Amino acid sequence: MATIPMLRAYKRRSTSTFRYLSTLILAEHEGGSLKAQTLNAIAAANYLGKESSISLLLAGSGPSLQEAAAHAASCHPSISKVLLAKSDKFTYPLAEPWAKLLQLVQKIGSYSHIISASGSFGKNILPRAAALLDVSPISDVIKISEPHLFVRPIYAGNALCTVRYVGSNPCMLSIRSTSFPMISMAADSKSNPAPIDEVDLSTIDEDGISKSRYIQQTTQESERPDLGNARVVITGGRALKSAENFKMVEQLAEKLGAAVGATRAAVDAGYVPNELQVGQTGKIVAPELYMAFGVSGAIQHLAGMRDSKVIVAVNKDADAPIFQVADYGLVGDLFEVIPELLEKMPEKK
Ligand SMILES: Cc1cc2nc3c(=O)[nH]c(=O)nc-3n(C[C@H](O)[C@H](O)[C@H](O)COP(=O)(O)OP(=O)(O)OC[C@H]3O[C@@H](n4cnc5c(N)ncnc54)[C@H](O)[C@@H]3O)c2cc1C
Repeated sequence: MATIPMLRAYKRRSTSTFRYLSTLILAEHEGGSLKAQTLNAIAAANYLGKESSISLLLAGSGPSLQEAAAHAASCHPSISKVLLAKSDKFTYPLAEPWAKLLQLVQKIGSYSHIISASGSFGKNILPRAAALLDVSPISDVIKISEPHLFVRPIYAGNALCTVRYVGSNPCMLSIRSTSFPMISMAADSKSNPAPIDEVDLSTIDEDGISKSRYIQQTTQESERPDLGNARVVITGGRALKSAENFKMVEQLAEKLGAAVGATRAAVDAGYVPNELQVGQTGKIVAPELYMAFGVSGAIQHLAGMRDSKVIVAVNKDADAPIFQVADYGLVGDLFEVIPELLEKMPEKK
């Protein structure tokens, strides 16, 4: 007898919690378009439930912001609103002003969830915003089972942890882009764009905003596809022995139209810049094809590539751990295998 009221109470609480789901996505944009990882965040938000409304928050300055807002408004039918914060304060991805912006937008919109992709942008802003909102963020989510039940990897991806969020709103998540495949733009683009509303910034709390200052951003200009979104990734390890030898890996990537990746050992040895590092402390990739040359397969490296669809490994040690995750393995010397591949592969058209 005593359990019935309790059950009723629980049911009432859960329906009211789930009925009013409203999600805010912290959007990243560049050159007038949303970045691919924001589309992954939209895909993730769609797992929260069909009744959930999804708003995208874009901030920055200049004409490209307006273009990106137009793109955001028509990128997917699930978007119910685009919020635009126009200010020079948001031209650069500094955590202090952006976290205050999230705090302000949450105060106005009372969202049940705030989602960002777990790239360097989201990782920089979300924890600070969560502290301002006095909630615990859940990072690196790879599965949304229920609106408050998530799966995230721990111990460098060697175990998966199921987390139930029991805190107050907003439930803040960073999602691993590779786990929420991008929604096809052509198939899903909508004819009626979502409304674009400007955020009233007059009440933003400016305290501490100027604690950090943007100096410069250094990026490697490259014709190759972006490592995080490439369909094919060719990775080299310490075994390449020098930056000069690493060029073989780059040539192979060129022929395959692939992105180049590297282990931390290769990066630390100075063969390639650290933005090419794949792994726990580098980029997380899940391409259709991942080819690893002279990579031992340390757990920290596997953490960044084990979700790749097909893994090919070339290593001269038959017991190298990389072979445990490889779909195709070749025990051999990369200094023989790569030149042979380069010779036999047709030039990229
Ligand atoms: C906190 C922490 C975070 C880390 N984060 C990362 C990370 O994000 N990414 C990452 O990659 N690492 C990371 N590491 C480092 C990681 O533990 C390994 O040290 C690193 O991945 C090893 O790189 P490697 O496979 O190139 O080198 P090694 O482990 O030295 O392996 C070289 C391999 O090449 C093979 N080989 C040698 N010569 C040839 C040849 N001629 N032909 C074919 N095969 C050959 C060898 O058999 C060997 O298996 C991290 C470590 C720590 C502690």
